[in-house]
Amino acid sequence: MPEPCPATPWPVEMQDLARVLIGAEELRERVCALGTQISGDYAGQDLLLVGVLRGVTIFIADLLRAITIPVTVDFIAISSYGPSLQTGGVVRLTKDLEEPIEGRHVLFVEDVIDTGLTLSYLLRTLRARGPASLRTCVLLDKRAHRLIDVDIAYHGFALHDEYVVGYGLDHRQRYRNLPVVGVLKPECY
Ligand code: 5GP
Repeated sequence: MPEPCPATPWPVEMQDLARVLIGAEELRERVCALGTQISGDYAGQDLLLVGVLRGVTIFIADLLRAITIPVTVDFIAISSYGPSLQTGGVVRLTKDLEEPIEGRHVLFVEDVIDTGLTLSYLLRTLRARGPASLRTCVLLDKRAHRLIDVDIAYHGFALHDEYVVGYGLDHRQRYRNLPVVGVLKPECY
């Protein structure tokens, strides 16, 4: 086994947070619990995790290491034409999956669901490719804005209607490296 990393100082941009909503330890415990649950549910099956770049990277990296059954991973990348409310969630795939998913058990992993429009569009796209099963795992669930019902098999935390950064989530591509989920100070938006 590799040696554990020496303790690293916290990123300097932690000082831009007004509040921490979910701490590093809380994230670690919840992601471990999700990994255990997923490992039990998919035991004996050919499990493929599909993540959406780039916000999901930290979550999916930790989730993968919490899964104890054989698993593979693939990614898509999307670009929105604008806020999902205006586009109806229609997004353009800027990077497609590397492998076909027909006949495979796909677990779609997302960092955050808000209106649900983006996720439901992506799920429709994947379902059309004939996976054996297609379920969703979302780290942060913001229910207040939900416009479309999406069945979420696994979810990490419920959040109120606040724009959050950290643990992979960005604001103008920054703050993804923060080890917590939090809200920025108003002057940082
Ligand atoms: P939806 O289509 O569910 O309204 O929007 C989902 C997308 O909006 C997410 O994939 C994410 O890119 C973005 N998003 C929604 N809420 C947040 C948030 O609190 N922080 C960040 N960084 N992105 C968010």
